[in-house]
Amino acid sequence: MKEFELIRHYFQPLDNPLKSNDGVVLGIGDDCALLQCPPGHVLATSIDTLVENTHFLPGTDARRLGYKSLAVNLSDLAAMGAEPLWFMLAIALPNNDARWLAEFADGVAGLARDSGIRLIGGDTTRGPRTITIQVTGSLPSDVALRRDAAQVGDDIYISGTLGLGGLGLLVRQHGLDEDENTRPWLDKLELPQPQLALGKALLGIAHACIDVSDGFLQDLAHILTASQVGARLDLENMTVPVWEKAFSHLSPQLVNARGLRDFCLRCGDDYELCFTAPPTQRESIAKISADLGLRLTRVGVIESVHGIRDADGTEITVSGFQHF
Ligand code: ADP
Ligand code: MG
Repeated sequence: MKEFELIRHYFQPLDNPLKSNDGVVLGIGDDCALLQCPPGHVLATSIDTLVENTHFLPGTDARRLGYKSLAVNLSDLAAMGAEPLWFMLAIALPNNDARWLAEFADGVAGLARDSGIRLIGGDTTRGPRTITIQVTGSLPSDVALRRDAAQVGDDIYISGTLGLGGLGLLVRQHGLDEDENTRPWLDKLELPQPQLALGKALLGIAHACIDVSDGFLQDLAHILTASQVGARLDLENMTVPVWEKAFSHLSPQLVNARGLRDFCLRCGDDYELCFTAPPTQRESIAKISADLGLRLTRVGVIESVHGIRDADGTEITVSGFQHF
């Protein structure tokens, strides 16, 4: 199958309206897409690249890879509280394997449909397997959840349970089998659910927000640096995954409960939201948690003294995933 036929066959079907007035004047097929920003809104846009051997292992299920390529981008829209609108897909492939393409496109399409985001263009080239997706969403002017908006006295929250995706990555790296213990971890790693509903619900309630993708401590530190504040964490409040001694060989950190907690604070692939909100919003946040059926845990407070400390004031060193 030739390049243009390939685009038409696998990707053009994702270019269809999923909501009324989605602002697409012209989608796939011309030199540019033509787009209309919803009146009174600003656009939120973000891009992420997934490279084989760096972000995913060779042989990764194509459908899951398609899903995840879009999910990690939607997670960025969620972190700002934005409504998904459009995305572009630039893909480099070593060959035009029809089955791989069909599964990949299907994985992308399923999540695109579920989250109401429309494919409006892209680029297709031959090369080492690399997927770049750019997403654009919208939100009313001046309400975005920014990293620089944390205030002294804010509570710090995290959604879901940290560490599951990191455990999934260890399972893959050690080539362990999928079973009833490891499946939830692998699903979290490979099918992370972008917290779009949470992000939108937090507009007007939370101050700062970030999606946790490279380790909770490191991502929280981005909020602290941008907001020029510090944090005190009560880590005993934080739920950790059910720990099985049988998996302690996966990492030297996993030998005891304390090590597991530390692992969960620093591993990547959570795609949960970390946000800050004034204590006056505790009831609203409890309601959001109940409405969404999503655990929202208060794990600390914002303080004026820079750095991150635990409940008894001991400095916590920040580390997480970095490419360079
Ligand atoms: P140009 O030659 O102007 O760069 P291309 O030949 O790269 O255009 O692409 C033709 C059309 O197909 C464009 O509208 C482009 O956005 C779209 N397109 C190319 N690759 C993809 C893809 N992987 N997914 C979605 N749309 C694509
Ligand atoms: Mg091109």
